[in-house]
Amino acid sequence: MAEGTRKPSALTGRLQKLGIYNDDDIILHLPMRYEDETRVTTIHEASPGKTVQVEAEVEHSEVTFRPRRQLVAMVRDGSGTLTLRFLTFYPNIQKMLEPGKRVRAFGEVRGGFWGAEMIHPRLHAVTEGEVLPQALTPIYPATAGLAQSALRKLVQRALERVSLRDLLPESLRRSLKLAGWERSLRYLHQPPPEAHLAALESRSHPAWRRVKFEELLAQQISLRKAFVERRSHAAAPLPAQGTLTGRFLQTLPFALTGAQRRVLDDICRDLEQSYPMQRLLQGDVGSGKTVVAALAMLQAAENGLQAALMAPTEILAEQHYRKLEGWLKPMGVEVVWLAGSQKKRERKQMLERLESGEALLVVGTHALIEDSVALEKLGLAVVDEQHRFGVRQRLALREKVDGRLPHMLMMSATPIPRTLAMSYMADLDVSVLDELPPGRTPIVTKLVADVRRHEVVERVRDACHEGRQAYWVCPLIEESETLQLQTAVETYETLSAELDDLKVGLVHGRLKPDEKAEVMAAFVRNEIQVLVATTVIEVGVDVPNASLMVIEHAERFGLAQLHQLRGRVGRGAAASTCVLLYVQPLSGNGRERLKAIYESADGFEIARRDLQLRGPGEFIGARQSGTPLLRYADIELDVDLMESARQAADEILERCPEVGEALLARWYRGRSELLKA
Ligand code: ADP
Ligand code: MG
Repeated sequence: MAEGTRKPSALTGRLQKLGIYNDDDIILHLPMRYEDETRVTTIHEASPGKTVQVEAEVEHSEVTFRPRRQLVAMVRDGSGTLTLRFLTFYPNIQKMLEPGKRVRAFGEVRGGFWGAEMIHPRLHAVTEGEVLPQALTPIYPATAGLAQSALRKLVQRALERVSLRDLLPESLRRSLKLAGWERSLRYLHQPPPEAHLAALESRSHPAWRRVKFEELLAQQISLRKAFVERRSHAAAPLPAQGTLTGRFLQTLPFALTGAQRRVLDDICRDLEQSYPMQRLLQGDVGSGKTVVAALAMLQAAENGLQAALMAPTEILAEQHYRKLEGWLKPMGVEVVWLAGSQKKRERKQMLERLESGEALLVVGTHALIEDSVALEKLGLAVVDEQHRFGVRQRLALREKVDGRLPHMLMMSATPIPRTLAMSYMADLDVSVLDELPPGRTPIVTKLVADVRRHEVVERVRDACHEGRQAYWVCPLIEESETLQLQTAVETYETLSAELDDLKVGLVHGRLKPDEKAEVMAAFVRNEIQVLVATTVIEVGVDVPNASLMVIEHAERFGLAQLHQLRGRVGRGAAASTCVLLYVQPLSGNGRERLKAIYESADGFEIARRDLQLRGPGEFIGARQSGTPLLRYADIELDVDLMESARQAADEILERCPEVGEALLARWYRGRSELLKA
């Protein structure tokens, strides 16, 4: 393939679209399915509905123009005649279908007005004495301008050229009863006619299991390596002094939950090390991650180092800032605030306070990772809602200090199912907050058809007259931000008219940050009773008195999103309700999502269902994660292989690291630079 200075050809470009950069990649470009062209059916036996191959002689062919331009040919074998029809065609097809020529046509048979026909069959011109293919025909994932036949040829050539040496130690292969590498690959690319098609297509065939195991093994090895490599970097040890954290715990108006204490133990132990912590803190919505972050940050500060908390939106960052300030100011601990919307002067002041060391703690948005912000004494970086950030953004925060890396604490309210954590996040240490603070009343979830919307409006009115507050979440319109905004404004106007005895507010993504903050502040002060909102409130917003939530067109939202939104209520002592308004008819998937959210309040259970409904790529935001996605193995179906791969990865790294390197080269050559994120 083109290398060095040569200009990439069109073919190279197309192959790269498929993730193919070299011969190894071609070999690992495996068929999605197969077609059986190893046998022919007589036209007589080719009944409608069947997908078959016939071999016949062209009797007649012509281009007709009614009802539209098309090429129609009549072919005949010893048993009968069949019509072949092409609505678009090139001269080469016309040529193959000249009377007297022999062709093989592969396709689905349909019962047409003039008898059996095939529309757009795959044609093959039969030459004198030619025999049938000896292997099933693989159908590869393809892209525009790259035909199956071209891909097949490339694979054939690569199979001849590339070493198919088995990289796995014999003992491992034997103990796991794994098929050989060469045999498996040849089998998958060229299965013999008698191959078990169902086992091939469900990927349960031993040849597939071998490939999937190796893929999982390469992934585990790359993650383990990243894990080990982290320990080769230096970080400032931040032992617990108790000077700040101790005082903080005394002034905190509540006692930590058992889960919070356990998680803090993990973090505390990590911070004492001289290599960087890389811990993921998972905790369902409302489980109390912020106070954990605050304690970790104080531990950095009591060692004289800086700590930064980065959040994905201004609403959220500002809320964290207010919370930390509220807790820490009385203790005389300064917190500064950095956001994109900030006035130049304020920003300058904040930066000065950081530089002078007056303040060690900083909260902000992406503004924290801008070049002008120098966090030269950064000891700890906390990233809230970490999945909202790209790998590079998270790394940017880490690169702030040269020589030493800061400790990293990543927080996520999207619980990650075990299988997913095992495969995609094995390079992190994970702590889980699996207990909600006491005094919460469970949220009652109601599914209400949109035709009863007026009843819901009345309930909101009653609740607000009793002193409660409500969120009203606008329908999601993913295709257009403008339409989304328009809908939000309309919803706001309608509700303001319907609830003219209440104060209704509106918050959406296009508001200026200070406008947004103003609305939120008014809501916190209960000057607004009903807050109409887009999904900007999805993450982290915390207003304990808001105990009612209505979500319009709930069927349009994703499962994780619904769970996050619902988590905005149920934060105070009052019984909370979440009303999901839906419009009929529901799609199958929409029904499943609503059912899942109705049936469970447990973030982990919901995440599991979400994973089933969406698949891992969508779930973790494939483009963001930087971890290579699995192409063949399925983390739910192949969990046994994953367990084995995990064990094997440790053994290989310990006993024969060169095997690990070879596996990484085979599976990720040149593409693992983001693995260390
Ligand atoms: P999340 O994990 O979703 O970020 P927060 O940190 O916002 O949750 O906490 C939710 C609410 O619970 C906040 O008002 C917080 O002050 C409160 N909280 C946290 N920990 C406790 C606790 N141990 N006891 C009582 N309330 C708590
Ligand atoms: Mg939070």
